[in-house]
Amino acid sequence: MNKVTTWWRDFRDLLSPRYCAICGKHLNPCEEKLCTSCLLQLPYLSIQDYLDNDVSRVFWGKLPVEQCSSFIRYGADDEIHRLVHQLKYRHRPDLGRWLGRQMALKLQREGFFEGIECIIPVPLHWRRRLKRGYNQSEQLALGVSQITGLPVLTGYVRRVRNNKTQTHMSHSERIENVKDLFWVRRPIPHLHVLLIDDVITTGATMLSFAESIVASKPDVRISILSLAKT
Ligand SMILES: [Zn+2]
Repeated sequence: MNKVTTWWRDFRDLLSPRYCAICGKHLNPCEEKLCTSCLLQLPYLSIQDYLDNDVSRVFWGKLPVEQCSSFIRYGADDEIHRLVHQLKYRHRPDLGRWLGRQMALKLQREGFFEGIECIIPVPLHWRRRLKRGYNQSEQLALGVSQITGLPVLTGYVRRVRNNKTQTHMSHSERIENVKDLFWVRRPIPHLHVLLIDDVITTGATMLSFAESIVASKPDVRISILSLAKT
């Protein structure tokens, strides 16, 4: 880092101090969105096999998928819940882009993006997007794009309605809950698409999203990436 950059960072931090998105500690000029301690303690998923892992297995027997991965484990630990809460509810689109870049830096070294032609983030319903001010999955996708150069397609698929939380639903209720959630309104001009979401739990929303794309373009190849996986 040159002297001007260092001076600028110190000056910026003096004017508007920045805090860790997880523990709230004051960040030093070398730290970005998380303090070093929180960054090192994230429960990273070390997925090596992109065809056979916790994410791809969610879709086996339901949808043919290619490369699948997820960055961190969404477990019981409060740290991850705080991070996702900041991303979704505390107006932190900057955190989404930064997390997208961190995911992409790791995955690009491992060849994850080979053959993928574009990124499509899971869209929010327009009412939720208006309330939140941004789509967190789109911010993740933009961060990935900053590293990989892959185009991010927005406005091609619309979320027709909001699905309810699925925690206490039976299997058949879950299927009904995500039925016809998405509508492909413009032909997708690429053959291998990477679908991005913030958290994959049951995979039902992502499956519904992918199925709507496959229905509109039967020869499309689907890869899947999420920030976190339960
Ligand atoms: Zn921290």
